[in-house]
Amino acid sequence: MRSKLFIFLIGLGLFLSGVSAFIAYFYEPLRSVFFVIAVILFVSNLLLSQMAYGYYLYKKEAMLKQKEMQRCPACDKPIYISDKRCPYCGKTV
Ligand SMILES: [Zn+2]
Repeated sequence: MRSKLFIFLIGLGLFLSGVSAFIAYFYEPLRSVFFVIAVILFVSNLLLSQMAYGYYLYKKEAMLKQKEMQRCPACDKPIYISDKRCPYCGKTV
């Protein structure tokens, strides 16, 4: 859901920066303006895609972590499945 939004934004940004570069190439009077716009769009796109990738990695790791966790039957705090004793209340799981 969220990753689709990111892909859409990145695609839109790439498209707009491509259009700006296109205009800069053919429209001489405002060439420098459109060139700057194209560069700014392209750079912000790179940052956005980096963010999206970081978010994706974070989500993946969070899901993996959740799989390795369970809840302590005594205090209901999240503990590792491999834990023999709860680190919070000391009860044997
Ligand atoms: Zn506990």
